[in-house]
Amino acid sequence: MNSVYIHIPFCLAKCGYCGFNSRPLASDNEAGVYCSALMKEIANCKMKNDNLETVYFGGGTPSLLSARQLKDILVRVKDNIGPVGDDCETTIEANPGTVDIYKLSDLREAGFNRLSLGVQSFDPDLLKLMGRRHTAGQALAAFSDARQAGFRNISLDLIFALPGQSLESWQTNLTKALELGPEHISLYSLTYEPETEFTRQKEQGRLTPASEELEEEMYLAAIETMGSAGYAHYEVSNFARKNFRSRHNLNYWQGGDYLGFGAGAHSHLDGKRWSNFKDPDKYIVALEKGESPVEMEETLTRDQRIFEAIFLGLRMVEGIAVGEFEKKWGLAPTKYMPKVWRKLEENYYLEKEGGRVRLNIEGLLLSDTILADFAP
Ligand code: SF4
Repeated sequence: MNSVYIHIPFCLAKCGYCGFNSRPLASDNEAGVYCSALMKEIANCKMKNDNLETVYFGGGTPSLLSARQLKDILVRVKDNIGPVGDDCETTIEANPGTVDIYKLSDLREAGFNRLSLGVQSFDPDLLKLMGRRHTAGQALAAFSDARQAGFRNISLDLIFALPGQSLESWQTNLTKALELGPEHISLYSLTYEPETEFTRQKEQGRLTPASEELEEEMYLAAIETMGSAGYAHYEVSNFARKNFRSRHNLNYWQGGDYLGFGAGAHSHLDGKRWSNFKDPDKYIVALEKGESPVEMEETLTRDQRIFEAIFLGLRMVEGIAVGEFEKKWGLAPTKYMPKVWRKLEENYYLEKEGGRVRLNIEGLLLSDTILADFAP
């Protein structure tokens, strides 16, 4: 276990498309009570690691907490789990409307060395449509403040295939993001998650999703634009400058172990997986009573582990190293569910080269759908 994830389930407001475990923060008191529970959970953890490689504060909107609260949680990780040195990739997700130069300087000083900024769009109409509580101007200011505060590793998130978004508007967004010169960019195609405002509106015919053709055009345009600007495409939705791939996410995608703390946080260790109560109130109550906040535990079957290795491996642009896979699982990846592999091949989604098997661009675009067929 070389990675730690901390979940902060609060936001300023719920965005229309959001399917994450998050809800609007009711009060400062609620944040304080949640932090106390989180600190208890970390203190109770018996697993130690002197070689922590990544720590990631995600959400929700972690930057909604005060710098003091965030620092205290990070210190608790250092004291109870393992040292978080300069070479440990320590990320915090931030919403542009919740940070300023002072807060960012405090976070940098506390030990956070990577910032993931949820910009999503520079288009004011689209920001409004998504229900984001920040402006494009605040995103630009947050980026500049982060640089001034000493962040040398900044990632931006953008969303495409939004209702009403044109290819030109998407290109303009990409250009604006690139002008800032971030080290990492995540580009997500909008998905309609269950029980979100966007899905409700879609079902009621009040919102028209982008066509599949337009979504594909936007994805291809993004890959070309990012490539020309020197960003390596290394996972379906992720692009990075040299040496700035997200080490935390690479650990997930490569099937590594990690510990998660906070409401709904997942952990994975030696073929076992467990997750905490999703509901922050239940999570808090369990810890206040001195009970475990774990809601679900399972030991993964061999089939589940192979499925994850294939699903996550094929989402990486480099694909799966056949020899390594064979050594670990005792069979070539293409020997597991050969019918599904055949279907991928017949639809021209596969490339085999240099001892690796991977999806081509068309396959990456449809990866969520076509890889689900591997599920045991
Ligand atoms: S800020 Fe992020 S986590 Fe919070 S509601 Fe919006 S999309 Fe969801």
